[in-house]
Amino acid sequence: MVTAIGGPRILLRQLRETMAEPLASQDRLDKIVDLIAENMRADVCSFYVLRDDGALELFATHGLKREAVHLTTLRLGEGLVGLIAAEAEPLSLQNAPEHPSFAYRPETGEDPYFSFLGVPVLRAGQTLGVLVVQNQERRAYGEDETEALLTTATILAEMVSTADFDSLVKPGSDIDLRRTRMFNGVGFSEGIALGQVVLHDPRVEVTNFVADDTDAEKVRLEAALKTMRVSIDDMLNSGDMQIPSDHREILESYRMFAHDRGWARRLEEAIDSGLTAEAAVERVQNDTRARMLRQTDPYIRDRLHDLDDLANRLLRILTGDGTAAGKDLPENAILVARNMGPAELLEYDRTKLRAVVLEDGAATAHVAIVARSVGLVAVGQAENIVSMSEDGDDIIVDGYTGAVHLRPSPDIEATYVDKVRLSAKRRAHYAALKDKRAVTRDGIEITLLQNSGLLADMGTLEETGAVGIGLFRTELQFMIASKMPRVSDQVELYSEAMRLAGGRPVVFRLLDIGGDKVVPYMRSMAEENPAMGWRSVRLALDRPALLRTQVRALLQAAKGGPLKILVPMVTETAEFLKVKRFILKECDRLPRLGFPKPSEIEVGAMIEVPSLIFELDRLLPETDFVSIGSNDLIMFLTAADRANPRVAGNYDPIARPRLKALKMIVDAAGAYNRPLTMCGELAGRPMEALALLAIGMDRLSMGASSVGPIKELILGLELGPVRRAMADLLENGTREDTPRELLSEWAERQRLSL
Ligand code: PEP
Ligand code: MG
Repeated sequence: MVTAIGGPRILLRQLRETMAEPLASQDRLDKIVDLIAENMRADVCSFYVLRDDGALELFATHGLKREAVHLTTLRLGEGLVGLIAAEAEPLSLQNAPEHPSFAYRPETGEDPYFSFLGVPVLRAGQTLGVLVVQNQERRAYGEDETEALLTTATILAEMVSTADFDSLVKPGSDIDLRRTRMFNGVGFSEGIALGQVVLHDPRVEVTNFVADDTDAEKVRLEAALKTMRVSIDDMLNSGDMQIPSDHREILESYRMFAHDRGWARRLEEAIDSGLTAEAAVERVQNDTRARMLRQTDPYIRDRLHDLDDLANRLLRILTGDGTAAGKDLPENAILVARNMGPAELLEYDRTKLRAVVLEDGAATAHVAIVARSVGLVAVGQAENIVSMSEDGDDIIVDGYTGAVHLRPSPDIEATYVDKVRLSAKRRAHYAALKDKRAVTRDGIEITLLQNSGLLADMGTLEETGAVGIGLFRTELQFMIASKMPRVSDQVELYSEAMRLAGGRPVVFRLLDIGGDKVVPYMRSMAEENPAMGWRSVRLALDRPALLRTQVRALLQAAKGGPLKILVPMVTETAEFLKVKRFILKECDRLPRLGFPKPSEIEVGAMIEVPSLIFELDRLLPETDFVSIGSNDLIMFLTAADRANPRVAGNYDPIARPRLKALKMIVDAAGAYNRPLTMCGELAGRPMEALALLAIGMDRLSMGASSVGPIKELILGLELGPVRRAMADLLENGTREDTPRELLSEWAERQRLSL
């Protein structure tokens, strides 16, 4: 075997010097391939760069004909070079021409070379190009040589991403890394946003690649690994983590990787080849990301994501870098993340944030609801977008269709600028409807209400013409605060909300925290099934001081006027009665504390837990009104987690069994003469809203942006015949069509705008 002259460390040092020399870009690249060839005793060293049109262009060579540079191209997947680029895996061959993928390029004068070693040049797992060495003689390249070439490729990747490199790119083409990309996600919150990427988990910038002292780098790595292992163990051993949960499972998987000898060995090998500890982590992370981008098995992809997160942690320990929350945002910031909780989203400066794009997520997850309620455009399930984005990249998010355009071309941008104008027109069209009553063509009046939770979204009441706030999610104030809001803070928010409502009714829902609504300053227990755990009214009843503070704040905020309080997640009548009595008792105390009693106090129950449907005859007489939370109710009826994108969309919420359950509530509320509102996300989606109207509902509460479209639907609708057809479908077991099919047919017949 031929051994390399001076080994990889010498080469790296030479490369570092070459990078710093005042050379023209092509000269620098030529010198680099010369140095690699010399150091590895290779007859040929070539560097191919992946262009945005999918071609791999020869950018520099030592040993092949110089005339071929910038002329020879291979397609992705074509030839050995194309294969390496497509699979992002090294390839080492003793007899290259025999390989089925070998492609002969006469202009390069390549025929006499038998041995071939090629490695992908990666950045964040994406292929930037391919680096190849070749020898005339048949020889096997050792693993250490593959490793050395991979290390060299890490340095080249840095060079490709610098502005200096741009002068080498032919006019009219670009490197693939900067290619425009489109993602077909799912729209969570409507609207169009144009802006710049802010990575929620920002990439740690490694600036120092070449180690001066390999032993010292190993010591740094070992210390960082130790710090990381200890911090994971601490998290796992903390009291909160003693119960099995998703979070615990992730930490367990972190711990497994953190102690994995294979991973540590790969990191050490990368240091051995001359890299600093952080560059070594990035090198190994690149391989993980490349595998992640090509992995289709969701379980394995999740584990690779965990390993990627862990590498980020390690990089942060090594470089001392922080995370994105709290940092200064650019104007028109668009947050890109794998996933995040609603509280994390609310930590950002909302005056600059325009949109959020997630790789995971589901439309009824609270992060999506919060995005809607604070007026952010949101798209979820944009696969792999985190790896493909860089901080500061231009991005367009279309919350109507779920499309996300990263680094859009000027024509796409122009189209969207038009679309924004058009959506402004659409808004103007809906605004023109705002003073119209929502009455169907056959004279049935529907009450349209708006969901809210922050003062920021109260202002839209004037624009939408909704007749009140059907659901004020009081927990949002708790989620954005850094410490528990005091009574005075709460009184201020509630009275300001009532003032902004200008006499329209506001239904205040008592705190609904727990599950995925995390309040940072409250110790929460890790639970295996948080959605079915210690949340909402269960938590409030266990923490009477918390409940009392809120109830007092609401009673005081009413300032002697009427007050409506909604109790969330009621599971049985007795639970509702407990809260109601609690409220009435507090109300009786008001005069003694020097405050007037509300002129009228109404207490309602949310129907979100299925078993309550079978106790409506006991519950309804005790309530003043009821409200259906379809997000939770449908989740529990279908046993499909609303926050889990793999199952959240699997079952049609308006399929027969769900509609029948909803109809039971509608009928009972009618029989007991209790106002019934739908305040879950179903109410704001045209087809689903039509289904609700068809089963007899007439009060819908929804996000502000849905009020106009739903009103337009109602104004064009003749509801009577649709109600009769739906009653027939639900009662007559012999009909084959689904409710959705039936409604589509009616929508077409009546030319409804869905
Ligand atoms: C619901 O569950 O439908 C609801 C309105 O409450 P939330 O989405 O806040 O859980
Ligand atoms: Mg709910």
